[in-house]
Amino acid sequence: GPSRDEVIALRKQYVSPGVITYYREPLMVVEGHMQYVWDETGKRYLDAFAGIVTVSVGHCHPKVVEKVRAQTGELQHTTTIYLHPALPQFAEALAAKMPEGLSRSYFTNSGSEANEIAILSAREYTGNTDVIALRNCYHGGTATTMGLTAHGTWKFKANQAPGIHHTHAGYCYRCPYGLEYPSCDLKCARDIEDVIKYQTPGEVACFIGEPIQGVGGAVTPPKEYFQIVYDIVRRYGGICIADEVQGGFGRTGTHYWSHQNWDVVPDAITMAKGIGNGIPLGAFTTTEAISEVMTRRVHFNTYGGNPISMTQGLATLEVIDEDGLQQNSLEVGGHLKDRLHELADKHSAIGEVRGLGLMLGVELVTNRQTREPATQLAADVLEAMKLRNVLVGKGGLHGNTLRIKPPMCITKDDADYLVAMLDECLRDLTG
Ligand code: PMP
Repeated sequence: GPSRDEVIALRKQYVSPGVITYYREPLMVVEGHMQYVWDETGKRYLDAFAGIVTVSVGHCHPKVVEKVRAQTGELQHTTTIYLHPALPQFAEALAAKMPEGLSRSYFTNSGSEANEIAILSAREYTGNTDVIALRNCYHGGTATTMGLTAHGTWKFKANQAPGIHHTHAGYCYRCPYGLEYPSCDLKCARDIEDVIKYQTPGEVACFIGEPIQGVGGAVTPPKEYFQIVYDIVRRYGGICIADEVQGGFGRTGTHYWSHQNWDVVPDAITMAKGIGNGIPLGAFTTTEAISEVMTRRVHFNTYGGNPISMTQGLATLEVIDEDGLQQNSLEVGGHLKDRLHELADKHSAIGEVRGLGLMLGVELVTNRQTREPATQLAADVLEAMKLRNVLVGKGGLHGNTLRIKPPMCITKDDADYLVAMLDECLRDLTG
């Protein structure tokens, strides 16, 4: 194949400059196996960002490869206008993992599309228009979901979706009111009532939130946060949607779905990324009653529910159970978080370690007292970790939170290696 330089030249000439890459010297990835990827020189990296939290069970997991290879040889494509067994089989497997009452799935190619269907369904079902999302959230790159996404960097002027409002997330480390949990009485959660009262007609279509924020930097609210928000939203006629695109499928370790950590039951769940171990696959799963609204008009998705994606999704769900990956997320994630806390004792640049299971964030600061965001340091750490063969992500309100979300098959040795390398990087960059 073409060399790395040729690939860069081809991209420069023929690919939209809007297609971004990480790293000052972009990394070329040519092979992957489980939690590792290899570049064109044969150098191995620990993929602690899992694509972008997409590779849930491991790169080229043998069982997933085998099932999809067989399907590819048999039938690569048909749309949902014909019957194919893989579609309802996958929907059935997904329903078995859902909270009671959520049994009907609509399949898409991405998380953005799943969230579009979710907002559409909520508006049709309730007859209301207004949608409340969380500050600092990310829900996608399509018209409505770009409007939901609350980061200036992700919003184009030409594409502001109407009827969308934002409320405070449970981001205690940077409490907008300067309060402390629990004496704050969850003022950030109760704020949604004011948003509804003053910015909507007093009736809402839905609330959509990531139970633990992904792009937002593993923002993990206090336990009661979502209970309070869901109660208020339902009082004003809205349904509650949990965006499980990043947090689902056992990644938080304690539960299969990240919302279960907060003892709430949503009316609908949206999924993508890890559900298909990296293949284009998204889903919107909801109650029978809400799912009926999609029959009011004709809605169609050419590739949604195609045999390859359905087969890969089903194989991925099976592997999560067979390989005990939720349990592994709990054990290795717990170990990794403990080790990161130890690291925080050594390095004052670590402001906070947060998240659950293998959905972790390390927020970097220049000063622990003032909590001044260390945005440049986070970018430098990302580069330095890559030179030490570890790929991590970054995000957060100020781009200063390292995002550690490896494939769920990662081992304790991998976790120890990651921590040792982060220790070195912080020592070199801040020492
Ligand atoms: N929801 C969340 C929580 C996400 O993190 C993302 C992607 N980063 C999306 C939705 C959109 O998914 P996609 O890129 O597959 O459209």
